[in-house]
Amino acid sequence: MSRLLVIGCGGVASVAIQKCCQNSSVFTELMIASRTKEKCDALKAKLEGKTSVKIETARVDADNVEELTALIRAYAPKAVLNVALPYQDLTIMDACLAAGADYIDTANYEAEDTEDPAWRAVYEKRCREQGFTAYFDYSWQWAYQEKFQKAGLTALLGSGFDPGVTSVFSAYALKHYFDEIHEIDILDCNGGDHGYPFATNFNPEINLREVSANGSYWERGAWVETKPMEYKSTYYFPQVGEKDMYLLHHEEIESLAKNIPGIRRIRFFMTFGQSYLTHMKCLENVGMLSTAPISFQGQEIVPIQFLKALLPDPASLGPRTVGKTNIGCIFTGVKDGEEKSIYIYNVCDHQECYRELGSQAISYTTGVPAMIGAMMVVTGQWKKPGVFNVEEFDPDPFMEALNTFGLPWVVEENPQKVRVWKA
Ligand code: NDP
Repeated sequence: MSRLLVIGCGGVASVAIQKCCQNSSVFTELMIASRTKEKCDALKAKLEGKTSVKIETARVDADNVEELTALIRAYAPKAVLNVALPYQDLTIMDACLAAGADYIDTANYEAEDTEDPAWRAVYEKRCREQGFTAYFDYSWQWAYQEKFQKAGLTALLGSGFDPGVTSVFSAYALKHYFDEIHEIDILDCNGGDHGYPFATNFNPEINLREVSANGSYWERGAWVETKPMEYKSTYYFPQVGEKDMYLLHHEEIESLAKNIPGIRRIRFFMTFGQSYLTHMKCLENVGMLSTAPISFQGQEIVPIQFLKALLPDPASLGPRTVGKTNIGCIFTGVKDGEEKSIYIYNVCDHQECYRELGSQAISYTTGVPAMIGAMMVVTGQWKKPGVFNVEEFDPDPFMEALNTFGLPWVVEENPQKVRVWKA
């Protein structure tokens, strides 16, 4: 018997909420609160009559701590699932502390205005000290550790697919297959085709910033930074086929480096087609990926937000996208003195996701683990005071729930290794 407040009503939220409704023995009451209440009402209407879960909706500005706190106090949920944007992580955490609710999210904090001098000073210090230049990192949210501990509340960070399932795969591999893991290669392959020359599968602002940034990996206790798309590889993905992939910075590298003892190297690769890369480079070259406001015909606009308005809404890609995703991790380490390697992955079919929930596989593969993370917290299976990444808990119940709720996984022994070269 749990009451959950979901913040945000985009592609990922839509899946997470529908999955909560499939799991009505755990989630009995839901509130969907977002900036545009009409979207919350439309989803509620879609679900009405098909679920026993009692759904309410509200409008909330998740940048506003007072508004959020008032909403959480009034609804009194057991936990708050943040599936708005990474920009709102800290305000939602503050409100959870003020109102006394557990917190779950799928992406670490990112500043919306990267030109803000106060934020920049902290960022530049971190770049110097840590050696990676991504705009997002865990330091902001890990800094809440003591506050959540003192309040007796749990904050579960990064319960999407990557981060999220990839991190749970890591904990599972360590628990069941290795004495020590030395290398992790996280491979994110989207073999789907939506038929547009250019579109992003989730929020364009977040997606394009991630992909156009410098790459980085973790090796022997330090970050090694690369130029954007500097390192390339080709990999044969089960059920998808051979794809080009590139080394990117990704947020779970930071937490896995901290939480997997004895780890020597962690890399993250994502597949991209040539058309996507050419479009992105061109947009970047003309300044369309900038987050700095410019004045246009007497109005202030942010180029990347304007671009978002032009691009297809990721939520609309569902009916047109065919093909499969394959996301997983290759682990190399030792067990009983022998070196070994395993690959744990999930394959998800875009059209099957669409038939089931009206969404494409990227939102599906994020929304399902978001619901599972919330389930782990509200059922008390993953509940201790403080701020935690998903790999810090027992992976077994989460892994079991992935099989139950639509993301079955496979363990392959002795997989093909990743070979990397300069693009
Ligand atoms: P969308 O842009 O589709 O949805 C975001 C939602 O948040 C929208 O409903 C939006 O409202 C709402 N929102 C934005 N700002 C505010 C605000 N100030 N107050 C209230 N509501 C707000 O994004 P996605 O669903 O694609 O992504 C959701 C989250 O999932 C993001 O944090 C993303 O980074 C993360 N993600 C994580 C992945 C993982 O594997 N870990 C993979 C993919 C995404 P409105 O409708 O008005 O725009």
